[in-house]
Amino acid sequence: MALSDKDIDRLRQQLLKRREQLRWVVHDTLLESKREDFVDLAGQVHDAAEESFADLLAGVNLAHLDREVKELADIEAALQRISAGTYGECVDCGTDIVLARLDAYPTAKRCQPCQARREDSKRGGRDATPSL
Ligand SMILES: [Zn+2]
Repeated sequence: MALSDKDIDRLRQQLLKRREQLRWVVHDTLLESKREDFVDLAGQVHDAAEESFADLLAGVNLAHLDREVKELADIEAALQRISAGTYGECVDCGTDIVLARLDAYPTAKRCQPCQARREDSKRGGRDATPSL
């Protein structure tokens, strides 16, 4: 792995900070929904263990939380890759993701070329995925 402990630590702090921000957004949005079950859930947002937080929200079908929930899942996945020692490696091709990219997107799991390829195939629709 090309990342130093110091880099990893800095990126980890960024991820944790962002997660905390997102938890507040989720918390407030749940409260504002004025739905009893969601308001209940809001009370658990800050107590939930890291792993169960995503599960907690899986049952929340609030369209305007989609982006936050997805980003939180990405953050959890990135933190797990840090624990597993695979953080900073592209999940598709295994090369090291450049540090500048990780600084800009700490949740990045693909190197830029792989991400671009993926977005190309997405644009072309499901059937455009190469069968390699
Ligand atoms: Zn790659």
